[in-house]
Amino acid sequence: MSRGVRMSESMKYVGAHVSTAGGVENAPVNAHQIGAKAFAFFTKNQRQWFANPLTRQNIDAFRNNCEKYGYSPAHILPHDSYLINLGHPEKEGLQKSRKAFLNELQRCEQLGLDRLNFHPGSYLKKTTEEACLLTIAESLNLALEQTSGVTAVIENTAGQGTNLGYTFEQIGFIINHVEDKSRVGVCIDTCHAFAAGYDLRSREGYEETFRNFDEEIGISFLKGMHLNDSKKEYASRVDRHANIGDGFLGKDVFTRIMNDPRFDDIPLILETPDESRWEEEIRMLYGMVGG
Ligand SMILES: [Zn+2]
Ligand SMILES: [Zn+2]
Repeated sequence: MSRGVRMSESMKYVGAHVSTAGGVENAPVNAHQIGAKAFAFFTKNQRQWFANPLTRQNIDAFRNNCEKYGYSPAHILPHDSYLINLGHPEKEGLQKSRKAFLNELQRCEQLGLDRLNFHPGSYLKKTTEEACLLTIAESLNLALEQTSGVTAVIENTAGQGTNLGYTFEQIGFIINHVEDKSRVGVCIDTCHAFAAGYDLRSREGYEETFRNFDEEIGISFLKGMHLNDSKKEYASRVDRHANIGDGFLGKDVFTRIMNDPRFDDIPLILETPDESRWEEEIRMLYGMVGG
């Protein structure tokens, strides 16, 4: 590809995690306003356990706006609530999480969406890592059995605290224990991977990271990426996003991603802290195509 390839010619779908203030139907409008070709959003308040059901009006307006601005489900990556822990070591917390996760999947079904991004879970120092990973897989089996058409997309974590899913081996282990493999996928967050010890700064580190991903999980499971720089140093195990080029990860990894066909046709989502820069960041990322 030559330099200066235009957005419309690229196979990359870059966007950001946009606001739904005023209703979920505003997410595609907000994405369009910043020149995004993909977007992420919360289908409900991410800091509350349960929310009012979506109304017919919300659902119709969301679908109409997606069609109007040209967003298809393959380029939309809803994110679940931060409260949910599908690997919770205690019965009450686990039941509450499973109920809330099922509700999130059902909201995606209602909106006509085909994937839901979630953080795998935490063992809270009350059980072993392996027991927690098995609980997460069982939570997925229960939720997938009761829904249809929506893929559960596991996000890799920075490994902060007792959060699991910071290695591709752990994510592969969960997937191995999920019965319906056609409905489980993975989202790689570049900041989390870097903080967890995947050195994406160099070409060798980049190649090795995705070679390892393909070996432990399989590249066909990749259903989205989060494009974030990191405010914390390599292998810090701390999850703090930075705007692109402002952190310890640097820009080279993003140039490589934007020119790597393995990342065509999936949502590539910015979750960078200064949202006033998203429009400029999206333009910058498309400017890297061919570079
Ligand atoms: Zn993320
Ligand atoms: Zn994060």
